[in-house]
Amino acid sequence: MSINFINNWKELEIKCKNCTRCELSKTRTNVVFGYGNVNSKILFVGEGPGFHEDIQGKPFVGRSGKLLDSLLEEINLTREKIYIANIVKCRPPENRDPLPEEQELCINWLRNQFYIIKPKIVVALGRIAALKIISPNLKITKDHGIFLLKKQTWFMPTLHPAAVLRNISKKPDVQSDFQKLKSKIIELDIII
Ligand code: SF4
Repeated sequence: MSINFINNWKELEIKCKNCTRCELSKTRTNVVFGYGNVNSKILFVGEGPGFHEDIQGKPFVGRSGKLLDSLLEEINLTREKIYIANIVKCRPPENRDPLPEEQELCINWLRNQFYIIKPKIVVALGRIAALKIISPNLKITKDHGIFLLKKQTWFMPTLHPAAVLRNISKKPDVQSDFQKLKSKIIELDIII
């Protein structure tokens, strides 16, 4: 499939924020395009905005966002040193999982973000993002923390912060994944 990607970040953001490709456009408050450093070589991808993200127009705010911030801090990262985006840019009602057709209609925005950023590492936050961008056969409980090289980019799935908040006994698992991320950043000599 050939896609005509936009080269200019601002133009991409404006176009995305006016998107009405799927039904989620009818119930959203804001399009959550993403947040962070476009020059970073580390891209984090979640599944979609929740209630607070929809209101504020930013990804990973609220309790999940705080946990993500603390996990980043443990490996000397901040949001300003990475870029954070989602598979779908508008909130699915009642925080349900984004439907496969919604993901498919939205994914080219993320592909275009990827095209401009050209990340060396992509971290998929949670099952939905991991299935969509790494492998449909992936099992998040078993495969989290394992890096996979695809076309010169390293992909790693980890647990979604909201899932960790629901089951705090999983926190050491996600902390261990972030340590593996730190090691990969050092190994690839990524300047942050
Ligand atoms: S979820 Fe994606 S495809 Fe659907 S309206 Fe929002 S930006 Fe467009």
